[in-house]
Amino acid sequence: MNHPQNIAILPKEGCYGCGVCVNVCPTSCITFTSDPEGFAYPLVDQAACIDCDKCIQSCPGLNDRDRAQFLGSPVFYAGFNLDEHIRHNSSSGGFFSLAADQILAKGGVVYGARYNFDSMTVEHARVDAAADLAPLRKSKYVQSSTVHIFPEVNKDLLTGRPVLFTGTPCQVAGLHLFLQEKHANLFTCDIICHGVPSPDLFASHFSALAQAHGKPITNIDFRTKAKGWKGPLELYLAVDFDGDRTLTYAPLDAYYALFLANLSLRPCCYVCKYASTQRQGDLTLGDFWGVKQHHPELFDGQGTSLLLVNSEKGHQLLQSVSPAANVRPITTVRPFPPNLARPTPKPKYRDRFFTRIDLARWHPRRRWYHLRAVAIIARDKFWGVVRRFFNRGL
Ligand SMILES: Cc1cc2nc3c(=O)[nH]c(=O)nc-3n(C[C@H](O)[C@H](O)[C@H](O)COP(=O)(O)OP(=O)(O)OC[C@H]3O[C@@H](n4cnc5c(N)ncnc54)[C@H](O)[C@@H]3O)c2cc1C
Repeated sequence: MNHPQNIAILPKEGCYGCGVCVNVCPTSCITFTSDPEGFAYPLVDQAACIDCDKCIQSCPGLNDRDRAQFLGSPVFYAGFNLDEHIRHNSSSGGFFSLAADQILAKGGVVYGARYNFDSMTVEHARVDAAADLAPLRKSKYVQSSTVHIFPEVNKDLLTGRPVLFTGTPCQVAGLHLFLQEKHANLFTCDIICHGVPSPDLFASHFSALAQAHGKPITNIDFRTKAKGWKGPLELYLAVDFDGDRTLTYAPLDAYYALFLANLSLRPCCYVCKYASTQRQGDLTLGDFWGVKQHHPELFDGQGTSLLLVNSEKGHQLLQSVSPAANVRPITTVRPFPPNLARPTPKPKYRDRFFTRIDLARWHPRRRWYHLRAVAIIARDKFWGVVRRFFNRGL
C-alpha cells in the first residue's frame, strides 16, 4: 500500500535526524534506524500509518519556523566568561555556561549534549542543578540524539519553570515544531554548526582507540585548551582512558581529520537551510576566530565567543549574564563564519568514503581517507593564509 502522507516522502538530504516525527506519531508507527553511513532516519510501518499528516507538519526539513518574534537581523557581540575555570572547560568563551547558570539560578532546567560512554554515543540530557552542568560543556563533534528529549522539554515547560534548550539550529527548529505553541518560559541557544559526523563512525573509532589502549574511555575533549585557543586549524584532541590522557594534534587523529575535511557529515549538512544569519535560537553561540586581528582587546588566547542576539528573549538573556562576562557589541566580524552564510560544501570524496569503508570495524582503507582528509585540511590552511595575506576575510 502506498502512503504518500507520511515522513517516508522525505529525501535523505531533507532529514535532520531530530526525531520529532517519532514523537508526534499517534500510532507509534515510526522508528529511528541507522543507515549504512551510521546516521539515523525514520522508518515508517506503512500498515500502521493512519495518514494523519502529523509527522509531515512537524518536520523541520519540510516546514519553516514562524519567525515573528525574531529581530530582522541579528546583533553581534563578542566576549568571554569571567570565570577562568569554566571558560577553560568550554569550547570558546564559555557563554553556554553563563546562560545555563542564569536559568538554573531561577529554578529552571537546561538541556544540552553529553557523552554516554557505555553506548559510545552523544545524546541530549536534562540538568536541573549547577553541579551537573559539566558534562554538557564543550563541543562533541558527532550528531547528538534528541529523539527521546522533546516530550521531557514539554513537560518542564508546562510546570512553568524556565527552560534553556541548546543544540544545533536544526535541533532547535525541531523543538519548536514539536511544541507548536509559544512558551514564555522557553529560551533557546543554537550553535554555529558546520555539520555533524556519523554516530556509528564515532562509536567505531573511539571503541577501537579504547581497545588499542586497553582501558575504557572516560572523557573525550575535542576542544581541549591544553595548548591554548588559537584557531580552527590549531585544535587538539584530548582523550582520557580511565586516568591516562592522550593529546593529539587534530589532523593526526583519523576521525577528527575526516570531520575537519567535511568527509563524514550527515547528508543534510551539505544543504543545510539553517546555515544563515536567520537563526532558530534566541541566542547563537560560536567561536570568534578573527578576534585577535580585529578586536585584540577581547583576545588572550583562552577563547572568545561570537554571539548573535536574535530575539528580545536573547537580548534579555545576554543582559542578565553580562555582569559575569567581558562582552561588547561588535560591528566587524572577520573572518565571517562560513556557516552563517552557506552550508558546508560537499567534498567529492564524501560518498565514496562512506561506500568504501566498513563502519563496523577499523578498516585499513581508512588510512587512505585519513591522508585525503589531511590533504584537504592542508589545502584549506594554505588558502586561509593567502586570504589573511590579502586581508579579505571570508
Ligand atoms: C558539531 C559542531 C560543529 C560546530 N561548528 C562550529 C563552526 O563551524 N563555527 C563556530 O564558530 N562554532 C562551531 N561550533 C560551536 C562551538 O564549537 C561552541 O560549541 C560554541 O562556541 C559554544 O561554546 P561555549 O564556549 O559557549 O560553551 P560550551 O560549553 O563549549 O558549549 C557547549 C554547547 O554546545 C552544545 N553541544 C555540544 N556538542 C553538541 C552536539 N554534538 N550537538 C548539539 N549540541 C552540542 C551543548 O549542548 C552546549 O550547549 C560547533 C559545535 C558543534 C557541536
